[in-house]
Amino acid sequence: MRQTVFKLQTSNPAQTEELAEEIGARLKGGEVIELIGDVGAGKTTFVRGLVRGMGSLDKVSSPTFTVSKVYKAKNLSLHHFDFYRLTDLGIVKSQLQEVLGEDDSVAALEWADEINEALPYERLKIKIIPLDELKREFEITSPQALDYIEVKK
Ligand code: ADP
Ligand code: MG
Repeated sequence: MRQTVFKLQTSNPAQTEELAEEIGARLKGGEVIELIGDVGAGKTTFVRGLVRGMGSLDKVSSPTFTVSKVYKAKNLSLHHFDFYRLTDLGIVKSQLQEVLGEDDSVAALEWADEINEALPYERLKIKIIPLDELKREFEITSPQALDYIEVKK
């Protein structure tokens, strides 16, 4: 199936949030967004922008140790999962399955490589590569079904 890859850069955290905000504003519900990148790459920062773009004023913080957090936007809710160093994947996986079945929910995932087989093929993959202290490169892979997100600037 066709996938489109976009590459873009941001020069500071605010720009990353803006980029994510634009994407967040285009979400319809049912999307899965996988964030890929090392600790400190900017995955949680990106989720902060997503939530704002969805029209929520909720404060986003890292879900590490709580596994998942829910942010309520206008008509949608964003479920933010962080699978970092999770040992009991079973519980979270079923929690995730529940979210994946809701068409008014969006799932944003950090460190999801371990549960990759539980994810739908049609997801937005966002790889964040730190270039220096403040610059990040984004490599965004989008399947045709998510073309309406129009990441290209
Ligand atoms: P992760 O969730 O990937 O571990 P965080 O979003 O929690 O990363 O942290 C990213 C860190 O990098 C923050 O301290 C943020 O201020 C900093 N940072 C610097 N430049 C950028 C950028 N261009 N985009 C995102 N974060 C950046
Ligand atoms: Mg994080």
